[in-house]
Amino acid sequence: MKAFIKQLFFLLAPKPRLPENRAVILMYHSVSDWDHFATVSPADFEKQMAYLAAKKIPVVSLSELARRHARSESLGGAAVITFDDGYRDNYTAAYPVLRRFGFPATVFVESGLIGRDNNGIPHMNADEMRQMSDLVELGAHTKSHPKLANLSPEEAHGEIEHSKQAVEAALGKPCTLFAYPFGNYNQGTISIVRGLGFDAAVTVKEGTVCRESKILELPRVSIDRSTTFAQFKGKLSTTVDWYERLKLWH
Ligand SMILES: [Zn+2]
Repeated sequence: MKAFIKQLFFLLAPKPRLPENRAVILMYHSVSDWDHFATVSPADFEKQMAYLAAKKIPVVSLSELARRHARSESLGGAAVITFDDGYRDNYTAAYPVLRRFGFPATVFVESGLIGRDNNGIPHMNADEMRQMSDLVELGAHTKSHPKLANLSPEEAHGEIEHSKQAVEAALGKPCTLFAYPFGNYNQGTISIVRGLGFDAAVTVKEGTVCRESKILELPRVSIDRSTTFAQFKGKLSTTVDWYERLKLWH
């Protein structure tokens, strides 16, 4: 019943995009036919990108969103595309689609897995990161994907700095974007992220971005294999916050 109401709610969502004073950050992980909740099939990913293009929803980079936020400019009802963990399929499956549509995106890399397999799942190497970097920003996502709030400040600092330096070494330019593994952090973690000079950091808290959003605690909306196309459209066009209050979300 709850699922039915949720589905109905999304189907009835009237507008194709957000108001001008908001933006939405989409959170993807793997783009493949791998049977795991955090994946989106290549066919679904392409359909979702085609929808953004068809509805003329402005797609901007996370850096651009951070710049607008810092200057208190309009967020333009924009969508931002992000991928967590650095799966190689972001390069082989998602990047060609992004290129076709001219959409910028951000990939947050777990630096301990650059160019390596993890349980048989390949992660992109530094050369692939460089090849994508005309359109795709590379962000940091720690070295080994820990729950940062459980670590000592020194350990957390080391984890975050390793990923920042690895991305900078691969691309030869500053790495200014960060994603908290599991969305796990505390005030100490935020201080470390700020101290390392990141311009923006994203969480896994469901919601859209507005002027009041904290730049080092940006909410996102999760897109995975359980997300129906109607839900995808709904997530692009609603401010989410009040879904949560109605307990219709997850
Ligand atoms: Zn992750």
